[in-house]
Amino acid sequence: MIWFTEYWTENVGLTVKADQVKRIRSKYQEILVLDTPQFGRMLILDGLVQTTEKDEFIYHEMLAHPALLMHPDPERVLVIGGGDGGTVREVLKHSSVKEVHLCEIDEEVILVSEKYFPTISEKLRDPKVKIFIEDGNEFLQERQNYYDVIIMDSSDPVGASEVLFQEEFYRKVKNSLRHNGIMVAQTESPVLQEEYFSKAYREIRKVFRNVGVYLAYVPTYPSGMWSFTIASDFVDITDTKRNIEKVKELKTKYFCDSIYACLFSLPGFVQDILKKS
Ligand code: SAM
Repeated sequence: MIWFTEYWTENVGLTVKADQVKRIRSKYQEILVLDTPQFGRMLILDGLVQTTEKDEFIYHEMLAHPALLMHPDPERVLVIGGGDGGTVREVLKHSSVKEVHLCEIDEEVILVSEKYFPTISEKLRDPKVKIFIEDGNEFLQERQNYYDVIIMDSSDPVGASEVLFQEEFYRKVKNSLRHNGIMVAQTESPVLQEEYFSKAYREIRKVFRNVGVYLAYVPTYPSGMWSFTIASDFVDITDTKRNIEKVKELKTKYFCDSIYACLFSLPGFVQDILKKS
């Protein structure tokens, strides 16, 4: 057994006892798989926890379901990043979805997830899913007016992911959406990554008419408090009663009708960050 620490900032981190299962260097990043007594198997990229067997459902459900419920009829969905497959698995719970494109820059993440995280990656080879090994930024350039929902399941805004948090990129996202299209992105921790969080909100607001922020509690992500930013030009994303009767059919463990109904209830300090963004 070893002790693994992810440094959340220079002053604080998450330390877990673990057995190392696999460590490889892909073209883009170091991929590490650990078995931990507390959180089950863990996927770590360049020293940062991406997902764990124990709490992955929280992040993946919260990232996928609100946008898919708010859209009147989501048929074509794009996931950018998300090579572990958890978001794709949740998207496919919506019966209206006919086609899911996954654009992941690093094929090794997909291969490692399929081998070591079967319950997370289980739907990656579903016939509705098409995998593209490409940079999300370049991928969008060629796809105008196509998707109903675009989900940004990217790593932290450093390295290959940095570009995915900028205004120019969100403009490409908007151009790739059809009428009634909705975008949702993971946008970091308001507690420990306030700058990334408020920058993402600011950049998204420059591009989309309706923008909302919601939170979830993900124990293995920095501070535990995690944010998601959802945006659309034509859909009123504040209507969290839309399709609420469908929530139970999704068989989720964290996302539920009461969370959906008050999705945009935010703590005062988070509202203050958004006001000054
Ligand atoms: N849930 C995670 C989190 O917030 O920590 C994100 C998980 S997912 C594994 C992130 C994925 O985004 C990684 O596999 C990474 O390779 C991919 N990625 C990073 N930059 C990308 C880009 N420019 N285009 C497509 N995928 C990218």
